[in-house]
Amino acid sequence: MQYSKLLIPTLRETPSEAESISHILMLRAGYIRQLASGLYIYLPLAWRVINKINKIIKEEMDAIGAQELSMPVLHPAEIWQQTGRWYEISDEMFRLKDRTGRDMCLAMTHEEVMTWLASREIRSYRDLPQSWYQFQTKMRDETRPKSGVLRTREFIMKDSYSFDADEKGLDISYENHARAYHKIFTRCGLHYYQVESDPGMMGGNVSHEFMAPSTAGEDEIILCKNCGYTANIEVAQSLPDSGLNEEFEFEEVYTPNQRTVQEVAEFLNVSTKGFIKSLLYISDSKPVLALVRGDQEVHEKKLSKILKSPVRPANKEEVFSILNVEAGFIGPVGHSITIIADEILSKGCCISGANKKDYHIKGIVPNKHFTANWQDIHVAKSGDLCIHCKSVLQSERVIEVGNIFKLGTKYSLPLKAFYLNQEGAEIPIVMGSYGIGPARIAASAIEQNHDKDGIIWPSSIAPFDLHIIPLNLKDINTQKIAYNIYNSLISSGFDVLIDDRDERPGVKFKDADLIGIPYQLIVGEKALKQGFIELKSRKTKEVTKIDLENPFEKIIGLLKS
Ligand code: ATP
Ligand code: MG
Repeated sequence: MQYSKLLIPTLRETPSEAESISHILMLRAGYIRQLASGLYIYLPLAWRVINKINKIIKEEMDAIGAQELSMPVLHPAEIWQQTGRWYEISDEMFRLKDRTGRDMCLAMTHEEVMTWLASREIRSYRDLPQSWYQFQTKMRDETRPKSGVLRTREFIMKDSYSFDADEKGLDISYENHARAYHKIFTRCGLHYYQVESDPGMMGGNVSHEFMAPSTAGEDEIILCKNCGYTANIEVAQSLPDSGLNEEFEFEEVYTPNQRTVQEVAEFLNVSTKGFIKSLLYISDSKPVLALVRGDQEVHEKKLSKILKSPVRPANKEEVFSILNVEAGFIGPVGHSITIIADEILSKGCCISGANKKDYHIKGIVPNKHFTANWQDIHVAKSGDLCIHCKSVLQSERVIEVGNIFKLGTKYSLPLKAFYLNQEGAEIPIVMGSYGIGPARIAASAIEQNHDKDGIIWPSSIAPFDLHIIPLNLKDINTQKIAYNIYNSLISSGFDVLIDDRDERPGVKFKDADLIGIPYQLIVGEKALKQGFIELKSRKTKEVTKIDLENPFEKIIGLLKS
C-alpha cells in the first residue's frame, strides 16, 4: 500500500493522557484514537495487526477441531438470571431494557448463550465432544479502563467453549486448548508464561492464565526458575524463608504508642520475623482473627476461600467493641474468637499485642498460649521458597493475554444442557471455556518489543512485512526500482508499504521507526549509482547491502527468516 493513501496520523509529542509504553506508542504511531473512556478506534495499521493476530488464532483453533460461529452481543436477562450471574455481577455489566420493557444485557462473555445453544442442539453422547468459538465483542463497564487497549470497556475476545461427556473428555479438550494457546502466543512472538490461576467469576475449579511479562501489567505472578512452578499471586503458595531463632521468656512488655509491627520491632530491637501480625476481619458478619508473620501480609482471597464467604478488615470501632482493645495492640492470647493462623507461625514466632493498650507480649508459644486453625493465608512474595523444590522464588508483573477454565457443570446444570448416555440416562454436559484478547496480544507485543524510537513488531503480527523508503521519488531511477520491487513482492504475497510521500528522508525514517515494520528497504540515489539498495532490520538496525542484479531472492530470504 502507498503511505500517502493510508491514514497514519503519527504524532511528534508524547500524549499526556498515556502512561504505559504501548498506549503512548499506539497513539504516537497513529494506530489508535480514544473516543471516550475505555472506547477505542483502531486505525488502519492497528486493524491490520489485529487481523494478523486473529488469523493465527483462527488457524490454531481450527487445527484442534473447534468450529467457528457467531453469537449476539445483546442478551435476554433470563439466561443470566438462570445461572445467577445477573445477580452476582454488579456494575461491570451493562444492562438495558428493550422497547417492551424486557430486561436485557450486553455480553460480558458468552457462557450463558453457548450453554443455551448446547441445551437445545446436543442431545446424545454421539453429538459429543464439541468445541465452538467466535471472535466477538464483549462489553464490560470496567472500574478503571486504562493503559490504552489493554483494558477497555468494549473489546473483541476470541472465546471458545468445549462440551464433553465427562471429566476425562474435558481434560482432553482443556489440554488441546492449552497446546493451541502455546502455539498462538509463540507464533505471535510473545514472551509468556502459563500460570495457575483463580477461576473467579467463571466458576469451576481448575484454570490457567497465559501471562506476558511487562511492567504495564496489572497482575503479578510468582515463579520458580528452578522447577518451573508458576502461579498468579492470587493463588500462589510459598514457604516463607526461615524466621527468627531467638527465644524469649513469656512476659508482657511496655510498648507505649508503638502500634505497627515495624514500630514495635524497632522499639524492641527484634526483627519483624519474630512477630505475629494479628488482624481482625469480618466474615459473614462474624469476627475472625487472622495471624501472619510480622514480615508478611494476609491474603484476603485465601482467607475468604477457607471461610467460604467474603471477608473485610474490621474498622476501628468494630475492633474495639469486639476485642475491647485498640487496634495496634491486638494479639492471639486470651481470646475465644475464631483464629486462623498462617502455618509458618506454628514453627514459633513469639511477639504480638497483649490485648491491652501500650503492651505487647514476648515469648508466645503457639499451641500452648493460643490455638488456631493452621492454614496457608500469607501472600507469596519474591524471596520466599518454592513449595516444590525449595528454590528461591521470584515475582514478575504480567499482562493476562488469555486464560483457560475447567467449568465442569456450573453452567450446564442451571441451563439444563443434558445429553442422553448409552443407557438412556440424562447427564449434564461437562464444559470448559477459553478466552484470548487479541488487542492485549498487540499491546503486550509492543510492551515487549520497542526502543526509544518506536515499535518493533514481531514479523508475524506486523501490519506490513516490509516498508520501502525511496529517499527521492522525483529521481526516475529511484522511482522505477522502488516500484518494481514493490510490485514484485506484492505479487509474491508479501504485505508491503511504500513511503510515496514527498517528505524529507529524516521525516520518513522517523515515521518508519515509529510505526515499527520489521524491515525497511532504503532506495537512495547514491547507493543506486553504486549498484545496491539497503535492507535494514528495525530491531538490530543491521543494514544488508542488496545487489541490484537480482534483489528478490535475497530480500525474500531475509523477510522469511
Ligand atoms: P482481567 O483479570 O484482566 O480483568 P479477565 O479475567 O476478566 O481479565 P476474561 O474474562 O477471562 O478476562 O477474558 C479473557 C481474555 O479477554 C483475557 O485474558 C484478556 O486477554 C481479554 N480481556 C479481558 N478483559 C479485557 C478488557 N477489559 N479489555 C481488553 N481485553 C480484555
Ligand atoms: Mg476482568
